[in-house]
Amino acid sequence: MKAACEVCGGPIRTAPNRVEIDGAVMVVCNGCSKLGRSVSGPILRETHAVRPIQQANYRPAPKVAEPEYEIDPDYNVMIRQAREKMGLSQEDLGRILNEKPSVIRMVESKKLKPDPVLTRKLTHHLKVTLLIPLSELEGGKTGI
Ligand SMILES: [Zn+2]
Repeated sequence: MKAACEVCGGPIRTAPNRVEIDGAVMVVCNGCSKLGRSVSGPILRETHAVRPIQQANYRPAPKVAEPEYEIDPDYNVMIRQAREKMGLSQEDLGRILNEKPSVIRMVESKKLKPDPVLTRKLTHHLKVTLLIPLSELEGGKTGI
């Protein structure tokens, strides 16, 4: 049995391509494979007997929900206070964290939000808790 393209009906000369077109997975010829998004995986032999309903309705699984944390809005104050308590200058802290002093300065003046890596370094070296759960931020801290 010769495979036929499910889009144009022409014979598939090369290896059949499986592509997703408008949510439906179809076996198409090389020319029509450009119309859809290619789907990896083995080609089902029983394509004609069993409609690939499950695949047509396939939705990517939602990302595993990580606990969401937000940097404390007072991070600049917390970092500056923790640094001063340890008797470190911005240059000292920059050296310890392997960051430019200008980065420390910008963080402490709230011009720069520390990225996850810098946050982790600050948390580790200054022993401050900069990350608070998003739920706590929305629920508990609304009233100022
Ligand atoms: Zn075709």
